[in-house]
Order: sequence, then C-alpha cells, then structure tokens
Amino acid sequence: VRLTRADLDALPNYVPGRSPADLARELGLPEAIKLASNEVPYGPLPGVVEAVAEAVAGVHRYPDMGVVALRQALAERYGVDADRVATGCGSVALAEHLVRATCLPGDELVYSWRSFEAYPIIAATSGATSVQVPNDAGHGHDLAAMVAAVTDRTRMILVCNPNNPTGTAVRRAELDRFLDAVPDDVLVVIDEAYREFVTDPEVPDGLTYVNRPNVAVLRTLSKAWGLAGLRIGFLVAQPQVAAAVRKVVTPFSTSMAAQAGALAALAQADEMRRRCALVVAERERVSEAVSKLVPGVPASQSNFVWLPLGDRSVAFGKACESRGVIVRPFPGDGVRVTIGTPAENDAFLAAAEKALG
Ligand code: PMP
Repeated sequence: VRLTRADLDALPNYVPGRSPADLARELGLPEAIKLASNEVPYGPLPGVVEAVAEAVAGVHRYPDMGVVALRQALAERYGVDADRVATGCGSVALAEHLVRATCLPGDELVYSWRSFEAYPIIAATSGATSVQVPNDAGHGHDLAAMVAAVTDRTRMILVCNPNNPTGTAVRRAELDRFLDAVPDDVLVVIDEAYREFVTDPEVPDGLTYVNRPNVAVLRTLSKAWGLAGLRIGFLVAQPQVAAAVRKVVTPFSTSMAAQAGALAALAQADEMRRRCALVVAERERVSEAVSKLVPGVPASQSNFVWLPLGDRSVAFGKACESRGVIVRPFPGDGVRVTIGTPAENDAFLAAAEKALG
C-alpha cells in the first residue's frame, strides 16, 4: 500500500514547538516558559471550566451539529445574521474549508509570505496552488503586489491582519484600495486571529467589510478568549459562503466542549478585554526593550513580537531555550516571541540580553 502522496513528502509539518515539560526536565528546572504559540498566559476566563465540565456530562450524545446557540451568540455580539456565521475546529480548519470551498486543483491561493505557516500546508493538501507574495521591507503585506499577483486562476486571497509571525497590520486606506482593486469573483479572507490586540485606530476591523460580496473574516477563540485547547474558531461571510463552509466541514467538528466553552467565554468580554490590555502594555514594554538589542523590530499590533535575526534566528532560539524560555525561530528569517506574564517576559528579556547584548 502507498500511504503517502509524493507531493506531501515535500511539505513541512506544522510544528508546535518543543514541550515545556521536556525542556524543564532536560535543564533540571521546575518549569520552562513557553512563549512560542501566541497563547494568552492568564488561564481560562472565569466560568469556562465549569461550563465545559457541565457540558461534557452529556458526551455520550453528539453535539448540536448546527451550533445554533453559539452561532446566535456570535451573530449578536458581532452584529450580523446567524446565517452568515460558521464555526470550526479552530480558525485553521475554517481556512482549510474555505480553500476547499473555493479552489479546485490548480486554482491559485494568493497570500503574503512570510505569514501563517499553515497557509502553504492548507493550500497543498487541498490541491490549490500557493502564490506567495514577498512581504514588504517593513515585514508587512505588500497589498499592491498581491493584487498584481491575481490571475484568471486566482480564487482566494488571504490577508493576515495582524500578520503572524511579524505582528504588522495593514491600515484602512490601503485595505480599501486593495479591496476595490480585487476582482469580485476572488474571495478575500481577512484572517483576524489577533484582532483583539489591535490598538492602532487606523487598522480596520475586518467585520466592517463583510457586506462586500467577496469578503470573509476569520476569527478565533484560541488567543484573546483563551480557548486554544478547545479548538474553536468562526467565520463571518456572505450567507452562501458560510453555507458552503458548513457543507465541507467535517460533521460535528465543533465539539460539545467547544460550544459550551465558547458560550461561557463570550459572556466574559470585559475580563477578556482587561487581559488583552495587560498583554498590550507588556507588548509595548518588550518591544521597546528588545529593539535596543535587535535592529528593525517592526511595531506589533498582536500578542507577539518579531525579531528579524536572519541567519542568527536558530542560534538565538537555542540560546533562549538553554535559559528555559521557548520561543519560535523561523530558520534564516526571524524569531517570534509571544508576550507572556511580566515575569515570563522578564525571563525572556534576560535571556535575549545574554544572547545578544
Ligand atoms: N490564523 C492565524 C494568523 C494564526 O496565527 C492562528 C494560530 N496560530 C490561526 C489562524 C489558527 O488558530 P486556531 O486554529 O487555534 O483558531
């Protein structure tokens, strides 16, 4: 039996980074600090664990496949009709569903590069052709070049705003111009996994664009809402796009725990915002401190900072690990460091100072 498609052999794995427990054991430390997956460090929001525990008492039954209560809650919160909302097993799954819903083999998916490492994997496994447009000199999207990359075969463009892993964000005037220039039959997906950390008023909320026929917005509850382990993301789009996604979704992939946890989290918006403000204050402090060690750190609108260390990235990642701090190096390019608690950030800054100072 042939278990692997030849084209998959060439694909990178989605690497979650190394385990803090393993590193702590290796270093003989009580614990290691993980600043590698853009999680928020303050634990689940109040009420979430209890709601999930209550929901899982019924796990011998399937969850609500229509995800009715949660889609309704999301629709109310974000001011859209529930038929425009679809949920999935993390927003990464929804991105994949969108590619499956729009691209036949050979159709093109345009995105900026470097961006979220799942995009090339999703394109390849769905049979779409990746068209990567290099980031601009400031590590952000070059929207004019992305428009110029559109061909007859382009079915979808991903705009990651803010961009993972560089933290940059496109502004309203640029995005307006871009959306006006993209042909109507190309779906523009604005991936806003980090929207809640945006502080620049010129960075637009993607949801203000969803009345355009060809715009869809992806959000996740993994980051600001603290539900990474439950795997829940959502999409807001035109009803026919949301319906197409609901068709290609794996049945029951929004679990009972995810539905209950998300509903409980959404009831804690004030606390979510308070935590995001702590993360943002720390982001500014870490960015300023690390900029003294690394030239050209782009301003971040997210919950991580990007260190453009080029060929030194892997060595820097190893140096941080040797001091008990796990960050995310992208070989030859840069290092992404998630904002943690003030004490975690201090440990990272001390490690960075030792490695680079
Ligand atoms: N989009 C971006 C830009 C991300 O960085 C991530 C998570 N790293 C996701 C989507 C996926 O998040 P999830 O699947 O946890 O919702």
